[in-house]
Amino acid sequence: MPDQWLVGLAILPQWRACNVTHAAQPGRTLMSKTVEEVMSANADYVADFGDKGELTMPPARQFAILTCMDARLDPARYAGLAEGDAHVIRNAGGRASDDAIRSLIISYKLLGTREWFVIHHTNCGMETFTNEVMGELLAGSLKTSSIDDNGWHDSNAGGGTTDGKYINWLTFSDNAKSVVEDVIRIRSNSMVPADIPIYGYIYDCKTGELIEVPEATAAGKAA
Ligand SMILES: [Zn+2]
Repeated sequence: MPDQWLVGLAILPQWRACNVTHAAQPGRTLMSKTVEEVMSANADYVADFGDKGELTMPPARQFAILTCMDARLDPARYAGLAEGDAHVIRNAGGRASDDAIRSLIISYKLLGTREWFVIHHTNCGMETFTNEVMGELLAGSLKTSSIDDNGWHDSNAGGGTTDGKYINWLTFSDNAKSVVEDVIRIRSNSMVPADIPIYGYIYDCKTGELIEVPEATAAGKAA
């Protein structure tokens, strides 16, 4: 388990605890530090918005990326996107879930994308647990769990639910294989036209490099 993953998880509870600013002024909405930071950043963004209000809805560069929600990944930067360029669909793992496929179909059918990328990444959290583990953690409590060299542990503080045992969390143990599987799942969907190529890649969190998974790209080849 790489260190930055452990550290990131370990600091989470403390970070949460100190992250709410209590505004004393009457009538003022209680705003967390995070909301204040986001709104401040947004004001800067608006000030520099330029002519982006003129952008059209269909992505100008006619492609879509399905990738993981991992905070270390910035698809706009790793793939060179500006506003209006492309669709980016994100979920835990960058998996070809039913909902990701729903978005991809809208992406081409209504908004004209012609090429798709499936991009997973090294050190993905989805490799650290299984459906069974997640089900047990949620059954233990709804608190944030912790991880160490022996795997995930729950505080077992109570108040958990067995509902998590009925969900397919779409975890994986072989990253490259998961890219191949996702490309094949999209390729074989009856609503996906054969002339849209689907490329498979893994983003290297240590270097920022996109590394092709040739078997995935071959499986996603346009016909
Ligand atoms: Zn991930």
